[in-house]
Amino acid sequence: MKRNIKEDIAAIGKRLYEHRLNGGYGGNFSVRDEDYIYITPSGVPKDTLDYSDILVIDFKGTVVEGQGRPSSEILFHIVIYKTRSEINAIIHAHPPVATGFSIAHVEIDDNIHEESTVVIGRVPVIPYEVTSSKELAVNVQEAIINHNALLLSNHGAITIGEDLEKAYRRMEELENLCKMIITANSLGGIQPIPSDKLEKLYDTIRNREVIRNNSRTDKKRMKPLKSNG
Ligand SMILES: [Zn+2]
Repeated sequence: MKRNIKEDIAAIGKRLYEHRLNGGYGGNFSVRDEDYIYITPSGVPKDTLDYSDILVIDFKGTVVEGQGRPSSEILFHIVIYKTRSEINAIIHAHPPVATGFSIAHVEIDDNIHEESTVVIGRVPVIPYEVTSSKELAVNVQEAIINHNALLLSNHGAITIGEDLEKAYRRMEELENLCKMIITANSLGGIQPIPSDKLEKLYDTIRNREVIRNNSRTDKKRMKPLKSNG
């Protein structure tokens, strides 16, 4: 199996911790590489991960390389990869401000801040289910079809991406957006982007995506970031 993928996952654990986007024990991250999923182990603090801690599983959840147990949340990692074929990386973390939104069950609309509209779109709150349960995986699967970031009620957040860097940037954007919303609310409330301008913004994003896709050498399709939900 590929050492560089394991190193990237271990590095993301440290980065999330250092940028206060995740605590030591919380969260789990994975990367899909063809028929395998590289995933963080259970019970190892995410800021001290070594590449050798990362496990490789197949799509049935069976460990094919590595010591220890994979994250208890493997179910939702597997269903996300099955649902979104273009997605190759998943970050689940407990960023404190966004997790506060998940505790208050506050959904985030896509008309609040331009960069967030482009990077993450609308962020729904999915109903509470106990960690690692099949029910939680079902809720995640239903919501992830049309979204790139989710808030899990009373728990935390999930962001996804074509690669680990994109999933990380979405987590960072989500946490920053939540801070912006709190600031706006303390100053009298959110004045949303007008709906006709929002449509224009989405047109701009779509055109940009087309240009970017055309200039890519690997010809991999990127899904537009717009949420339909
Ligand atoms: Zn969690």
